[in-house]
Amino acid sequence: MQMKEKKLRIVLVGTEGEINLGFVIRLALNFEVDEIYLVSPLINPFSDEVKRFAAKAAKMVSTEYIKITDSLEEALDGVDLSICTSGLVGSTSDVLRHPITPRELASKIAPNYSSIAIVFGRESVGLTRDELAKCHLFLTIPANPQYPILNLSHAVAITLYELWTSTRSYRLREHANSSQLSRVLKLVGEIVGKIIDDSVQRERIMVAVKHILWRSSPSRGEASTLYYFFKKIKNSIDG
Ligand code: SAH
Repeated sequence: MQMKEKKLRIVLVGTEGEINLGFVIRLALNFEVDEIYLVSPLINPFSDEVKRFAAKAAKMVSTEYIKITDSLEEALDGVDLSICTSGLVGSTSDVLRHPITPRELASKIAPNYSSIAIVFGRESVGLTRDELAKCHLFLTIPANPQYPILNLSHAVAITLYELWTSTRSYRLREHANSSQLSRVLKLVGEIVGKIIDDSVQRERIMVAVKHILWRSSPSRGEASTLYYFFKKIKNSIDG
């Protein structure tokens, strides 16, 4: 099930590479970004090269989806929450560069806002301090301190992945609910009652199986397969 809850905007400042822009547009389709704003791009954003790297998202290489502005302020107009990004984290005293991570953004912060803009900088020099100061938050993707600077489109990919998986209510599988797990546990209890005499050991086994079941959060199909398997064991014990 996919549920659209948020309006998400990617803002690229002073983009220098057509390949990078194409990749970002492709990611925008991969991860359901609603709009792209380009602040003073240094390339032609509608070129064939951009389209080529956007692949299936080439149809989004149009003025309908991509807005061009002269300033970051204009690109942030109308959003509840803006986040500037950089690979460079500041010292204790440099509060402008005290970061959140993509995961924190996705799990704790983004759910509280309905329209979000994430701002990425120039390939050569990133975002200026003036630009960083225009955002509500500063985000970094944690990486090797010796070389934490990612390629622009890779940084966009990681950030969007985290946001998408946590805010778009996407589920790869349907989890078994508690009552389904309780049925499996009850059956294990019946088997244990038949083959283990020592009541202390019985108790230990039941606690261990309970913790494993709830912690592993199995899918519905897995839980019913386990149930089937334990039922067969019980039947064969019963004779
Ligand atoms: N030399 C520039 C590199 C910019 S890389 C600099 O020092 O800032 C281009 C853009 O990719 C950055 O402006 C930022 O938006 C994004 N980026 C690169 N690495 C990142 C990281 N580790 N975390 C978050 N964003 C990153």
